[in-house]
Amino acid sequence: MYYNVSSLNNEKIGSNREWFIDSVNLKYSDLGLVQIKSGNFKLIKTDKGVWVVGSLKIVINMDCIRCLSQLDVCMDINIDEEYRYDYFTDDKFDDNFIIDDSNHLSLKECLREYIFVTSPMKPVCNKICKL
Ligand SMILES: [Zn+2]
Repeated sequence: MYYNVSSLNNEKIGSNREWFIDSVNLKYSDLGLVQIKSGNFKLIKTDKGVWVVGSLKIVINMDCIRCLSQLDVCMDINIDEEYRYDYFTDDKFDDNFIIDDSNHLSLKECLREYIFVTSPMKPVCNKICKL
């Protein structure tokens, strides 16, 4: 979930890279286990950083609101964010989208925010609970 952008540092604006993410499990203190199935991103150099656009297929575990049994919820998360080098940020800039001193950007906290926005408010497990 980390990408080293250093090869883009000395290239011109608009240069880009493809980034494919293999399946991996992430642990979040609030969301629990998040399974990444695959990911496919394009990284585009901007004047202040790198634009990250693409999508992840993920599975998260939730509780059915009716019967409380656990269910796997599959989601496609579409991410479209500009990450910036830390010298191009200000107080208002979200720390989660900073390219760190070692030229890495991380999708982990970004994904967390997107999951909160995207995940179903009232998950139900099967047809019986949906009635
Ligand atoms: Zn249920």
